[in-house]
Amino acid sequence: MSAEQAFPRPTIPKDPVLSWPALFSKKKAGIASFMELGQLQFLTSGRMGIGNALRLMGVQAGDRVLVPAYHCNAMIEPVAWLGAIPVFYRIKADAGVDLDDVARLLQEGCASAMLVTHYFGFPQDNQAIAEFCQAHGLAFLEDCAHAFFGEVAGKPIGSFGQYAIASPWKFFPIYDGGCIAMHGSGASGLRLQHPGISLQIKSAINALEAAFRYRRLCIVRHIAKPLLWMKDVVWGSIKRAAGPERNKLSTAPNSAEGGTSFEPLWLDKRMSLASRLLMHALDFGRIIALRRSHYQRLLDACNDIPGCHPLFPVLPEKVVPYAFPLVIDQPERIFATLKRAGVPIIRFGEVLWPGVDASICPISVEFSRKVFQFPCHQELDTAELEWMIATIRSTMLCAQARH
Ligand SMILES: *Cc1c(COP(=O)(O)O)cnc(C)c1O
Repeated sequence: MSAEQAFPRPTIPKDPVLSWPALFSKKKAGIASFMELGQLQFLTSGRMGIGNALRLMGVQAGDRVLVPAYHCNAMIEPVAWLGAIPVFYRIKADAGVDLDDVARLLQEGCASAMLVTHYFGFPQDNQAIAEFCQAHGLAFLEDCAHAFFGEVAGKPIGSFGQYAIASPWKFFPIYDGGCIAMHGSGASGLRLQHPGISLQIKSAINALEAAFRYRRLCIVRHIAKPLLWMKDVVWGSIKRAAGPERNKLSTAPNSAEGGTSFEPLWLDKRMSLASRLLMHALDFGRIIALRRSHYQRLLDACNDIPGCHPLFPVLPEKVVPYAFPLVIDQPERIFATLKRAGVPIIRFGEVLWPGVDASICPISVEFSRKVFQFPCHQELDTAELEWMIATIRSTMLCAQARH
């Protein structure tokens, strides 16, 4: 199997796309969100949140920053950009932070900050980590990229660290988006700039195009057709006129389109207007309820399939999952089959930072191969969810039979 194999576009949306129900529903939320945190600012991506948080903490070239061995490169690039040294700590089999390992790493040399990820929306032991950081003089950065919603010990997730970041495009049908909450920065905050007309246009149009691609908002599609055609023409000429420096700002700012690099030009840019408006307009209660019920359905349907098991077999009350992570015993046999069938799979940590291997954390290396995340977002309809479940089941059972 070649690594570069091209797969078809997923049959069902990997990320949320705009729909009529998204625009018009009203439900009681019941679980807190990142929006309730203090000193909140809106950026173009989660990684820009990490970059800004590290900068505000005063992390400098040569400083050691503790980061999880199970990560995506977007989490590490801001550390490297500052010239700081990422020091990878272990995670446990339940994806929890291994504080004993962190303590061991601190004996080898002090560190200035610690980044902690709430994988797939399931919170870490925030209380213990906050105390640990305080005892060791570490600035605590909560990575809520997977946890826009959720509560820990009666408080919104993200309220335990000095800083917290989120990646709202993973939860809302928006093109760009990052948030940073700055409990630890005094009053100043960030002075953000307009992100440029090209992102403003692109984010508005992209939200629509993503919906049309998956047969949502069909009436709007007919009305907008000539406008979208014009956009393609205008876009081409803007790009040609802008020159290479401006073009850096027209590339994807986050992981949504596989954007993987850290482009510091985005650091002080504000989230696009379309994304901010949508984030504020959309109904949190619906997002929370549907993500939870889709997750529970996936749990019930996948619990008894041989050859795999859910990473989080229980959905606690105040958790709103980002995705449904399933641990697959023989991932190589399954991955390509599912992708060819059009099932969207995200493999968090598929590519680990150079040098992170089993000697650093065997569990992370295993997870990076074996944990497949299937979408459980609010915009999957029942037919799409059931199609995905049936495809996962039949693929797994078929592989078992051949085994
Ligand atoms: C996606 C992600 C990020 C980075 O977010 P972007 O918005 O893509 O920059 C950071 N941390 C985790 C855990 C992520 O999954």
